[in-house]
Amino acid sequence: MKRIFNFSAGPCTLPLSALEQARDEMVDYHGQGMSLIEMSHRSKTYDQVHHEAMALVKELLGLPNNYSVLLLGGGATLQFTMVPMNLLHSGKSCDFTFTGAWAKKALADTKKIGKANVIYDGTDNSFTALPDPASVKASSDAAYLHLTSNETIGGVQWQNWPDVGNVPLVADMSSDFLSRQIPVERFGLIYAGAQKNVGPAGLAVVIIRDDILEACPTDLTNYLGYANHAKADSMMNTPPVFTIYMMKLVLERLRDAGGLDAAAQLAKKRSDLLYDMIESNGSFYRCPVDSACRSKMNVVFRLPTEDLEKQFIAEAGAKDMSGLKGHRSVGGCRASIYNAMPVEGTETLARFMADFAKKNG
Ligand SMILES: *Cc1c(COP(=O)(O)O)cnc(C)c1O
Repeated sequence: MKRIFNFSAGPCTLPLSALEQARDEMVDYHGQGMSLIEMSHRSKTYDQVHHEAMALVKELLGLPNNYSVLLLGGGATLQFTMVPMNLLHSGKSCDFTFTGAWAKKALADTKKIGKANVIYDGTDNSFTALPDPASVKASSDAAYLHLTSNETIGGVQWQNWPDVGNVPLVADMSSDFLSRQIPVERFGLIYAGAQKNVGPAGLAVVIIRDDILEACPTDLTNYLGYANHAKADSMMNTPPVFTIYMMKLVLERLRDAGGLDAAAQLAKKRSDLLYDMIESNGSFYRCPVDSACRSKMNVVFRLPTEDLEKQFIAEAGAKDMSGLKGHRSVGGCRASIYNAMPVEGTETLARFMADFAKKNG
């Protein structure tokens, strides 16, 4: 067996010991004579896994009692629809911070459902910077203000949160969920696709405050209403059982390794290694992102020419470092270094970068 350093933006690398445990339990789950993914989701055995997974999310976030955790299919993308369907009612509009490719997608779907005001537009800086949180003001009648905590493609990450008074903050935290402490009480709703920090694809974790949940319309179709999922403990229909099981295995490891403080320390260590490397080879590498908001999850960088970037990606691949190609919409290079990336992977990449600059600079 061979494992390489996988810098893919998502799906992405997961803790090896979680994969191994899933492998060992795959055919005969805890002496049941069948796999967990073959048994009824109404079974006691699955029910326990389901509730442990939810409890781990609560424990790791230190979730206040007036919030619920929902585990929903459809990934983060379905939340681009479910959030406005559930929160954008009574003829209200919402506010949007337009900070990159993911905010753009969320905004486009929201506009098909209701009215959205763009209160910050990063087009002018090509989405290489974020607004000062203190400058972000919500419209007084806004149903909520939406932000994307980490733009996976552009590599910008909010370091502090706007204070928008009584207007609920709604955040897409798909690509930095459970990588640092979050003051949950400042948010009305948080959603995150699982496949960056917490598990395989196909699942969204939604954290929603009780008063917002209670105000959701009751006439939505069954799947689209948050209230229906909350009432049924996210088992209204067949949940994505395998993804939830894998998330439980990943989060147990995150808890045992020291939780979100430890995760944040590691994220800083990994990202510092790469940004320091880029800065100390500034005549060769360039990070286009404003230093005040550089992502600790997705490090984007350019080389002097596109030909050198191609060569860099190919040579890194030959040295067992994959997934370093930037998103097709922006080009360049990107190293995604989520929770499960070993520090050793980032050290190996930083050494390779130094070496490559010396040979080709
Ligand atoms: C990956 C990602 C998404 C999309 O997630 P899916 O599960 O593929 O729908 C949304 N927002 C952000 C910030 C992401 O990184």
